[in-house]
Amino acid sequence: MFNNLSDKLESAFKNLKGEARITDLNIATTVKEIRRALLDADVNYKIAKEFTDKVKDKALGEKVINSINPGQLMVKIVKDELAELMGGTEATFSLAGNPTVILIAGLQGSGKTTFSGKLALYLKSKKNKSPLLVAADVYRPAAIDQLHVLGSQIGVDVYSDRESKDPVAIAEAAIKEARAKNKNVVIIDTAGRLAVDEVMMTEVKNIKETVNPQEILFVVDSMTGQDAVNTAKAFNDRLDFTGVVLTKLDGDTRGGAALTIKYTVDKPIKFASSGEKMDTLDVFYPERMAQRILG
Ligand code: GDP
Repeated sequence: MFNNLSDKLESAFKNLKGEARITDLNIATTVKEIRRALLDADVNYKIAKEFTDKVKDKALGEKVINSINPGQLMVKIVKDELAELMGGTEATFSLAGNPTVILIAGLQGSGKTTFSGKLALYLKSKKNKSPLLVAADVYRPAAIDQLHVLGSQIGVDVYSDRESKDPVAIAEAAIKEARAKNKNVVIIDTAGRLAVDEVMMTEVKNIKETVNPQEILFVVDSMTGQDAVNTAKAFNDRLDFTGVVLTKLDGDTRGGAALTIKYTVDKPIKFASSGEKMDTLDVFYPERMAQRILG
């Protein structure tokens, strides 16, 4: 994950190897390389500049008081700033409501259905919950089949209605069914399109307004870089979602989406998904991710 970024940052810190103290010059050289590494990872220019300006200020601030091991000092500053950029501390996840309703939104192919299954398994096995998965994609029968397959794989019930063309009615009926069957979490997997379009947005918005979810999670394919960030903005403007899920972190992603999505939409990244197996879902911890990037 983010191998290229990790390598480039490591090489930026090499500038400080053997230096006895931190100076204006070695800070400037290192910071320039850090900025280049971020741009290469598909971080947009404004964010990369702001980031490196902060790192520079912090390093200059430390210069007077702390001249021990400039390399280590710089790594620590960059790590703290990376964690801050990705949200600082771990986000909260609401399991209030009876049942808790979680709405899953995103583009087609972003990994919504896979994530819905992973989340159901996570809540069942780690939080002792009894989830119900809901197939609210009325356009692609294959999407309904896919959710049923995942559901039986993880031992979680799936609600669907192949006759209905009304996702709002499906969501409402599913919540009723959850109450009747003592399910305490309802995870609604919605339809996605290949690009942001108003029909899809209106549909998800209607579901949101009718079922009042505790969480609206926007699922984004981290392989898509800045496109992912732009899509997040479009969804957030209309849906005001509660959190982001980054998928496909197991692929050769450059890191731009993970690094800048929180900054751009000011919503926390709540989960990181990396793989097609059902048990590869992690709660997102900005500090751990920053640590991983810096190796
Ligand atoms: P949806 O259209 O948003 O519901 O997306 P799907 O859940 O159907 O996922 C689209 C494709 O991406 C499928 O082939 C999934 O197996 C794959 N996929 C989903 N999540 C991940 C992931 O975290 N890593 C990898 N490598 N593939 C994933």
